[in-house]
Amino acid sequence: MKEESEEQQDFVKDITKMSTDFDRWYTDVIRKAEMADWSGVRGLMVVRPYGWAMWEAITRAFDDMIKESGHENWAFPLLIPRELLVKEAEHIEGFGPEVAWVTQAGATKEELEEPLAVRPTSETIIGHIIRRYIQSHRDLPKLTNQWNSVVRWEKRSRLFLRSREFWWQEGHTFHASAQEAMDEVSLILGYYRSIAEDWLAVPVLAGKKTASETFAGAVYTLTLEGLMRDGLALQMGTSHYFGQNFARAYDISFSNKENERELCYSTSWGISTRLVGALVMAHGDDSGLIVPPRVAPIQVVTVPIFRDAEGRAKVEKFIDGWAGELKSAGIRHRVDWRDERPGDKYAHWELKGVPLRLNVGARDAEAGQVELVDRLSRQRVSVPAAGLGRRLVDELEAFQKKLFERALEYRNANTVELSTLAEVVAHFKERGGFAWVPWCGDAACEERIKAEAGGVTIRTLDPDEKASGKCLVCGQPAKHRVALAKAY
Ligand SMILES: [Zn+2]
Repeated sequence: MKEESEEQQDFVKDITKMSTDFDRWYTDVIRKAEMADWSGVRGLMVVRPYGWAMWEAITRAFDDMIKESGHENWAFPLLIPRELLVKEAEHIEGFGPEVAWVTQAGATKEELEEPLAVRPTSETIIGHIIRRYIQSHRDLPKLTNQWNSVVRWEKRSRLFLRSREFWWQEGHTFHASAQEAMDEVSLILGYYRSIAEDWLAVPVLAGKKTASETFAGAVYTLTLEGLMRDGLALQMGTSHYFGQNFARAYDISFSNKENERELCYSTSWGISTRLVGALVMAHGDDSGLIVPPRVAPIQVVTVPIFRDAEGRAKVEKFIDGWAGELKSAGIRHRVDWRDERPGDKYAHWELKGVPLRLNVGARDAEAGQVELVDRLSRQRVSVPAAGLGRRLVDELEAFQKKLFERALEYRNANTVELSTLAEVVAHFKERGGFAWVPWCGDAACEERIKAEAGGVTIRTLDPDEKASGKCLVCGQPAKHRVALAKAY
């Protein structure tokens, strides 16, 4: 990954080809499609309305899922006292290097008595507060979530994937038993999987992280890993089981049914604006974005074609005749009346990845039909205006499905089974993608893979298939089948 030059704020004229330079292509597309931009403050991004609308679609879908299973949203302060942040030793060890601090305030820049951390995540302050609301087993479970932004002072920046501030949801739950907390962690991973696959059309590998990749302070971490079109994996959501670690550090206990004090079992989980970057990298092409219909801010765009005022009136009247039907069918539809040539409008909406386009000229109006073009196949077909709403709903569903299948084919074509470290090193010199390998479970072997295969890491353990054969590094009997990849 390259450090982006934030001085290059001039408007991008053309998109770099994906095959020429994926990183530049990615940035070009995001900026030219008006999804996001740098703010002028290093590492801090602005999410523009077109990108934010995609994030909103994700947030609505996920918020509905968690509400359905009894979770409640609340809000915590942006700033966390130092004393709270450092209580859980592993947690602060993990986050310490990325924390930004507020040390002064007011007109005279008075030093604060105690520095305040800008939250990198909120386990610590939530743990500190929630103990007030938990006394008995009857108060459990506490199923909570907050939508906010957090700050992690990263050295490298990349729009949506890595920025010093990003937007996300952080779920925090507290339970009376370990089993219930572990079930929660799995439930949420299932929701995340649905967001990735059903909404963003990105197939994911779902499973457990290795100990070295586990979230700071967690007992274990579940993850989703998607494959981007440059062959790199992207972590698309994580769900953590803390056991009693946080409850012990923050003294969160309850009286159980036997009237004894017991520490709570807790979880946390998050997805972020990174998912918007994922849909760009998983589906885009040389012409720009391809947005999955379910999260597309505009699902269908109509480009009217006319020469004069008379032609325009005719086309407009025709469009008015069925635009309402699209609206009542729940389709996000826009008519592009801007004063531009049709060809430029086509390029504009292709770049923005709008799934379906309708070209409508005077002759179409007379014939009572429209020309339908889809962003994936680019084939043009004439479709009768009668029943257009229903037809487009079907077309959008088919588009969503096709996009997922295309991504799945890409992943299948870029997944291999390997058995030795030498094979892994040779493979990742030439290619990306996922490689399944047998691993003994030893951290030293994991470290050697990373060191010798140029930063390749174990993305997830296979939750389904048992390991067979020998560890690819040491030759001892394998304990796990694991997916290797280079990752963002
Ligand atoms: Zn080994």
